[in-house]
Amino acid sequence: MKTIYRPVYTPKGAAKEYGDCAINIFTGCPHRCYYCFVPQVLRRNREQFHSDVRPRDGIVEAVRRQIEREQITGKLIHLCFTCDPYPTGYDTTPTREVIKILKESGNHVQILTKGDGSRDFDLLDSGDWYGVTYDGSYDGVYMPSDRVQDAFYTKSLGIKTWCSFEPVVNAVMVLDCIENCSDVFDQVKIGKLNYFQSDINWAEFGHKAEALCKELGLDYYIKDSLRAEMEKA
Ligand code: SF4
Repeated sequence: MKTIYRPVYTPKGAAKEYGDCAINIFTGCPHRCYYCFVPQVLRRNREQFHSDVRPRDGIVEAVRRQIEREQITGKLIHLCFTCDPYPTGYDTTPTREVIKILKESGNHVQILTKGDGSRDFDLLDSGDWYGVTYDGSYDGVYMPSDRVQDAFYTKSLGIKTWCSFEPVVNAVMVLDCIENCSDVFDQVKIGKLNYFQSDINWAEFGHKAEALCKELGLDYYIKDSLRAEMEKA
C-alpha cells in the first residue's frame, strides 16, 4: 500500500483559481462527465477511473497525520479536484471523517460536488462553503435540480453556497440558472469548456453572464480562459 504523505496540497494552474489548498479523497468518480479531464491528468484509463471508485488508501489517517504534523489551521480547503467528494452510489464516510478532522483543527471546507452531500450538512457552519456544479446539461447520473435544492437548503442553514458553472456545456441553460438561482448562491464561478468542440460563442456568453451577475448583484468570478475569450471581443 502506497502511503499518502501530504494529502493536503497546493493546487497549480487553473485549479489554483478554485482554492489555495485541496484534498482528493477517492481514486475515481462515477459521474462520467464526458469532458472529465482527471483520467488524463492522473494518466489513468478513463473507464477504470469511472468504475474503480474507492477511498484512497489510508486517506483519513494521512490527513490526520499531516494536519497534526504541520499544524495546519485557519485554511479553506477544497474538496475535491480529481474526484467528487460525494460519488453517487458509494459510501462517503471517508469524506465525513476528513471534514471532521479539518473542522476540529480550525480549518474550513469548500465542497464542490455533483453528488449528494446532505449527510454532512450538520458538520458545516458559516465559515464553510457548499458548492454544486452545473454545466447546463442533464446527462449523467446526477440530477442538477436536486443539487440546486441542496444548495438552497444549505443556505437556509447559514452555510455559504456557491455554484461552479464550469465547464459550460449549454449556455442558455446556464444563463437561465444564473438568473433564477441568484438568491440561492453566495458566489458563482464561470468557466468555458476547454479541449472539446463547442458551438458556444464564448465571448458573447461571457459578456452576457457577467452583465447578468452585475445586474443581479451576484458575487462572481470568471475563469481565466473564459476571460481571455471575452477580451478578444
Ligand atoms: S464529477 Fe468531476 S471528477 Fe467526476 S466525472 Fe465529472 S468532472 Fe470528472
